[in-house]
Amino acid sequence: MFLHVQRMINEIVPDEPDPAAANALQEGLGGQFGEMRTMMQYLFQSFNFRGPTAKPYRDLLHGIGTEEIGHVELIGTTIARLTDGSPRYTGKATKPVDEPGKGGATPMADALSMGNIHHFLVGGQGALPVDSAGNPWSGSYVYNSGNLVLDLLNNLMLESTGRLQKCRIYEMTDNKTARATIAYLIVRDQAHENAFAKALESLGVNWGSVLPIPKTSAEQFPEVKKLLDQGLQSIQYTFSADNMSDAAKLYRGASPSNDGTELSTAIMPEGTPITIAPERREEFSPGLDPELLALIQATAEVEIKAAEGNAP
Ligand code: MN
Ligand code: MN
Repeated sequence: MFLHVQRMINEIVPDEPDPAAANALQEGLGGQFGEMRTMMQYLFQSFNFRGPTAKPYRDLLHGIGTEEIGHVELIGTTIARLTDGSPRYTGKATKPVDEPGKGGATPMADALSMGNIHHFLVGGQGALPVDSAGNPWSGSYVYNSGNLVLDLLNNLMLESTGRLQKCRIYEMTDNKTARATIAYLIVRDQAHENAFAKALESLGVNWGSVLPIPKTSAEQFPEVKKLLDQGLQSIQYTFSADNMSDAAKLYRGASPSNDGTELSTAIMPEGTPITIAPERREEFSPGLDPELLALIQATAEVEIKAAEGNAP
């Protein structure tokens, strides 16, 4: 079973809304190599796991799968922040309730041309379980063969491809909110690559010479470099509240990334406080306020009277 802590796994750095960047991030959430897949893939692999003597592998999958729930929360909330306020919205952090549509434009006019119109039309300026082209997330992305070696190999490909795509998204936007989250997820992808590489090594795969971890030189990004200097690529969280996880039996020793670091485990990261976003009236989100309800009622009464007047 799972516990929940009301903290975000990494800070969501404030910046202006950017719906186009939000849409690019949808690939990292609901794409074929996104966080929803890593979450479901590792959790299903751990739920379906066979072989009590192989418990450390189950615990490694279970811990990483649990961390991925926090990544879904992080990237989903980041997308919501990036779509927060209509595209015409010019509010600053110091003036959070600016007036969308000021100057005669309709409040959400740019929703027609920026990013994914569903962020504004179907949702109330928030994340959706879809990829950046709007395709719904699919359970068929999940790979769980039941064979531990094949599952670990697929997990490594999944993390590596996810990291590759996030490096590309980083190069698409300079929005601080987007880049901070992307950088964090890039570094955690590397930690998970290390985990699956280490697990494969323990099963006899000569990782360094057979299948070196794909290099994407993400350390050139300053936000990534800062996290690498903190060693975030070489720690694995167990999320084991009762400390029953045996994942540390695998996640230890020299890093397979050959960066000179030693692998270690902790129960969970410290996290940062969560704030709930302001309401957005142009989206009727979270609901209708009393003034608007009165306006709708008055309009309806006029229409009813007009209809009665036209009646024979
Ligand atoms: Mn992740
Ligand atoms: Mn991962």
